[in-house]
Amino acid sequence: MDEKVFTSAKANMQVLLKAMGLPIDTDENFSRTATRFLRYVETYRQNYDYEDDLGTTFPLKHKRDNLYDRSIVVQVGIPYRAVCAHHLLPVLGTAHVGYLPKERVVGLSKLTRLVHGITHRMPSLQEDVCDEITQALMKLLSAEGAMCVISAEHGCMSARGVTESSIKTVTASVKGIFQENTDAREEFYRLIERGT
Ligand SMILES: [Zn+2]
Repeated sequence: MDEKVFTSAKANMQVLLKAMGLPIDTDENFSRTATRFLRYVETYRQNYDYEDDLGTTFPLKHKRDNLYDRSIVVQVGIPYRAVCAHHLLPVLGTAHVGYLPKERVVGLSKLTRLVHGITHRMPSLQEDVCDEITQALMKLLSAEGAMCVISAEHGCMSARGVTESSIKTVTASVKGIFQENTDAREEFYRLIERGT
């Protein structure tokens, strides 16, 4: 956010806080609340281009035509933080990401970066995050299949609304071979269980 936009957003936020009856002019605790809130939201408005990040791939040494001979790559327990699009409240989650390579693989740290990058681009829905992750893997690695399972706790359920904490929302996005073949899908879930 450039400085001019930030100053204007801050002024508007202060109007909002005053309208809520908060003593922003007289109580020091509220004097920088607008700035802090905007900085917090800004954390989740980072530029991230996964085409850049996943652009470097590596060839597999042994080409295997038979799909069933190839190794699934699964990264288990990737922690991430996000904010939800509907309430701008925190989402604390864990993602499990995997794919079945065709000919090329990506550096392992890139899978974690992909989760962090997508969740810091914009406040979003968990369902969409899950899908964007598998779409990126399918597109950039031309993978035979990709899966992402996310389990997350949403601040908008624990701090408002039903006000229940410790509830995990689990979503899964399944693409390619994992969609078509039950054994491949089960293998992915088995690997997640082993890794957690
Ligand atoms: Zn929400």
